[in-house]
Amino acid sequence: TRGGGGAGGGGGWRRVLVFPLPFQGHINPMLQLAGALHGRDGLSVTVLHTGFNALDPSLHPELAFAEVPDGVPPDVAAAGSIVEIIHAMNAAMEGESSPTSTSVRDVLASLVAADEGKPPVACLIIDANLLAVQKAAASLGLPTLVLRTGSAACFSCFLAYPMLHEKRYMPPKESRLYEPVKELPPLRIRDLFYSGPANHEMIRQVLARATETVRNSDGLVINTFDELEPAELERICGELDVAVVLAAGPLHKLSPVDYAGRSSLLRQDHSCMEWLDTQATGSVLYVSFGSLASMDSDEFLEVAGALHSSGHPFLWVVRPDLVRGSHTTTSTRWPDGFERAVEEGRGKVIQWAPQQQVLAHHAVGGFWTHAGWNSTLESISEGVPMICRPQFADQMMNTRYVQEAWGVGFELEGELKRGEIERAIRKLMGEEGADMRERTDELRRKVAGCLESGGSSQVALDNLVKYIASL
Ligand code: UDP
Repeated sequence: TRGGGGAGGGGGWRRVLVFPLPFQGHINPMLQLAGALHGRDGLSVTVLHTGFNALDPSLHPELAFAEVPDGVPPDVAAAGSIVEIIHAMNAAMEGESSPTSTSVRDVLASLVAADEGKPPVACLIIDANLLAVQKAAASLGLPTLVLRTGSAACFSCFLAYPMLHEKRYMPPKESRLYEPVKELPPLRIRDLFYSGPANHEMIRQVLARATETVRNSDGLVINTFDELEPAELERICGELDVAVVLAAGPLHKLSPVDYAGRSSLLRQDHSCMEWLDTQATGSVLYVSFGSLASMDSDEFLEVAGALHSSGHPFLWVVRPDLVRGSHTTTSTRWPDGFERAVEEGRGKVIQWAPQQQVLAHHAVGGFWTHAGWNSTLESISEGVPMICRPQFADQMMNTRYVQEAWGVGFELEGELKRGEIERAIRKLMGEEGADMRERTDELRRKVAGCLESGGSSQVALDNLVKYIASL
């Protein structure tokens, strides 16, 4: 019945639409937000998704789904560059008027159209990279909120991008990489969002459009928490004129369902959990570079060699496309002795892990990560210190915060060489890492605090639910 109310009993009976950018690191937090909202004060959620990296609705019986044509040309999709795909998706969605294909506006219009027996749509929550979708929503009078799936520091850096160009920090000069950006401490020039001259202009546009999406929105939700990034959140609030800015993370801890597992684009291999059960507390190094980062075959051999000779048990995620130019499951070359170490149970290699469960396992004592924001938050949430090997996008600035602001890990810089890697592993897992482990545990306790009833992120989520009800 209309107005019947839900778990919170507030009588909201409204529907929220969510639209993640179709990449793993963006899908997970958006679905976690959907999970955290579903059922609260009578809210139900419809997930919009694209054919590119499509989700499987049958795995999410509590959520409704609607497919939106993404318009990404097959060659761009196959090349897999996230920046180019964002660009292509927005271009296709903005240019769409072809009477033969359904547009994103058509999909939104049909969801918004009053449908007897269905809850009315309150708002659309979109990834910041979907400006075209926001424009379509605005033309229908549908309010939009934006979820930023990166850190507050990262969005603050997006906002500062024009200033960074004016003051000539950007594009970076080789000779100045280690200079501080005094407006954005503790960042240095090399930590800024930059992927080389070839696609600098495209990235500049993508960031400007993400900022515009947020500025045009009715509210911003950031996957972080107050105590982690207080100065950065303050800076954002000072610069933005949007109705609400809410730090409601870590979202994976606020969602009642394991959405990273259910919306995984690669199948998670749970056999590693049994293997972890056989390992001593705090002894295992977990190694994963997320869904997109890659390495060449020489680097791969250096990593494998170092994991083997470090003497620590390791769990290593080797995606089929981890090594550039080869398919690791069919053509892997391993260093001498590596395969025997794995057979003997001292190490385990899998294609994709149930990462949140792995990090929460008592056997895991360290995480060698590419420092994607989700991985960073997931590691902090379980009190696991990190070796960071950033490659692109926000990974450098996340690394800088891990090392300088929070002291919960350090960067492995320079060429990937077996000796250097081994030294880094010993530093993280041994005596030297004791202080880092302590600080990581303090941060873990802060995460637990923000998740308690009355904790900052729970309050932010409550405020979000109330705000949605008021729209
Ligand atoms: N992840 C996973 N299994 C793996 C590696 C990663 O489920 O073996 C998940 C991880 O928990 C995180 C997401 O994939 O939620 C990766 O997001 P992140 O922002 O860390 O990196 P990205 O893949 O976007 O570079």
